[in-house]
Amino acid sequence: MEIDDALRVAEAVNKQGMSVSLDSLGESVTSESEAHKAAEVYHRLLDAIATRKLNANVSVKLTQMGLLLSPGLAEEIAENLVEHARSVENFVRIDMEDSSLTQITLDIVRRLNAKPGLHGAVGTVIQSYLYRSQADVEVLLSEGIRIRLCKGAYKEPPEVAFPKKLDVDANYLRLTWMLLDSPVFHGLATHDEKMIAAANRFAAEHGIDRSRYEFQMLFGVRRDLQRQLVKDGYNVRVYVPFGHEWYPYFMRRLAERPANVFFLAKNLLRK
Ligand SMILES: Cc1cc2nc3c(=O)[nH]c(=O)nc-3n(C[C@H](O)[C@H](O)[C@H](O)COP(=O)(O)OP(=O)(O)OC[C@H]3O[C@@H](n4cnc5c(N)ncnc54)[C@H](O)[C@@H]3O)c2cc1C
Repeated sequence: MEIDDALRVAEAVNKQGMSVSLDSLGESVTSESEAHKAAEVYHRLLDAIATRKLNANVSVKLTQMGLLLSPGLAEEIAENLVEHARSVENFVRIDMEDSSLTQITLDIVRRLNAKPGLHGAVGTVIQSYLYRSQADVEVLLSEGIRIRLCKGAYKEPPEVAFPKKLDVDANYLRLTWMLLDSPVFHGLATHDEKMIAAANRFAAEHGIDRSRYEFQMLFGVRRDLQRQLVKDGYNVRVYVPFGHEWYPYFMRRLAERPANVFFLAKNLLRK
């Protein structure tokens, strides 16, 4: 899928009443010029989203912006993207990668969000499988930073992450309460009906309007659930990955659910 295909998908998803986050696939670039090239795709996306009046933002990985080559380079590139997003009234979501990058990712997001004029134009992702996440949520909330909450997609050791799914889920709910209780607009990224139902129950019990948060799901995954949520009046954002560098993305999704092999092969390899 190329930029134009991704924009067409975004338009179609918008027509179904859902917003979009566009992710130009790729991570861990090996040269400065590759990082700039990757950023260029996002600059084009931000302009195209504005021109076509799409209800879409962008999701960016800092390793794709050169984080492993030079944190300064990644921060500078990310800052340019956030400035661009702000100028077209849009938003940059900085995806969260493996736990060796959690601290530097949060540091960069917090610095960008604190820059004059950029507050609210950048947000990040918290993974409920990490022990540290509750403390990270507290810090981000105290600075009014928008959070996407997910369970986490990387293979992490028991020193940093809950090994048991039960604990990851329990922490997901604990963190969901914290996000819903805050005045900032957040995203709950999950296809897990138990998490979704519990979030909506909590919101209803605490008088939190459904317009104050959104659910986020992967393009094509649990379309039935996506449609039902829209029908019930909830905000749903669909994450649309596109581009040539599908391999690491594909392998993570595959590790999560072997059944994904068919779905992803169909969607990511389709021209
Ligand atoms: C919008 C979005 C953005 C994300 N961003 C990040 C990120 O920045 N960093 C990161 O580490 N991870 C990210 N993830 C991945 C996330 O961490 C999980 O790995 C992934 O969402 C699976 O967890 P789950 O909450 O859906 O529930 P799980 O507990 O894995 O699954 C619960 C149920 O959901 C359904 N389900 C889940 N996944 C699938 C699937 N692929 N196909 C069909 N059914 C499925 C099944 O019914 C399953 O039983 C993101 C996920 C989404 C949706």
